[in-house]
Amino acid sequence: MQIAYDVPALREAIAQLPRPLGFVPTMGALHAGHLRLLKVARQECASVVASLFVNPLQFGAGEDLEKYPRDLEGDTTKFSGSGVDVLFMPDADVMYPPGFSTTIDTGEIGTAFEGAARPEHFRGVATVVTKLLNIVQPDTLYLGQKDAQQTAVLRKLITDLSIPTEIRIVPTVRERDGLAMSSRNAYLTVSERVAAPNLYKALEAIRTAMSNDESKAAAIAEATKKIASAEYFDVVDATTFEPIDTLRAPAFIIGSARFGTTRLIDNLWIAA
Ligand code: AMP
Repeated sequence: MQIAYDVPALREAIAQLPRPLGFVPTMGALHAGHLRLLKVARQECASVVASLFVNPLQFGAGEDLEKYPRDLEGDTTKFSGSGVDVLFMPDADVMYPPGFSTTIDTGEIGTAFEGAARPEHFRGVATVVTKLLNIVQPDTLYLGQKDAQQTAVLRKLITDLSIPTEIRIVPTVRERDGLAMSSRNAYLTVSERVAAPNLYKALEAIRTAMSNDESKAAAIAEATKKIASAEYFDVVDATTFEPIDTLRAPAFIIGSARFGTTRLIDNLWIAA
């Protein structure tokens, strides 16, 4: 595996790779969810490029940028063991040199749910992903379903800006008790870790209730009673991320809750 720390080195390494080229952007602290993305990319593409960059632009003031888990050595081994051809590991000043000022406004789709909880988040995600796509120029971008709104925002960005990259969404990898794998699970105390699968259980309860013709409002009220720390639950159209009243596929049942100081998100995919 080659490691590139700046854009010229990365472009030079990529120029040697056979196509099609798959790209897996990450913020590191790799877990089995990331590894699944890398595995699918490896199976589907002749070459795989991954990035490890904790993007300061997508963290709000007072969020966990400073304490975000970092494990460069362990991650490098995992990327290499997953068959990555080239790993891009830029410093913040490579991505955002002094004077950098252009950002991407994702519009309405990035304003509700995660966009409401984290106002500058999707601007930061859209800006870094646009920049990474311009640098890597992959045929396929691999994203996790775990970050459902991010998939919708980035799909729209790629369409709106005519970026010649396909999106491939990989199903969420979970712990045995249902908790969606996340780098932020490392923050959970023992008792928070015990409670955290309740978020997934609440989403499943909403799906069951609505499949049994209960109204969305009743299903969500019931779920919210079981999980006091919930921030939101909703059912949204998978493409527009606008709330819908029935389980009309393709859709996501989405939710967010706090366990201590850790904010987790999860969703269920309602397939067509
Ligand atoms: P992150 O490092 O958190 O920015 O995540 C990098 C990529 O891995 C994103 O496309 C995430 O959606 C994806 N991802 C994170 N957690 C999971 C998971 N549990 N299952 C599948 N993909 C995931």
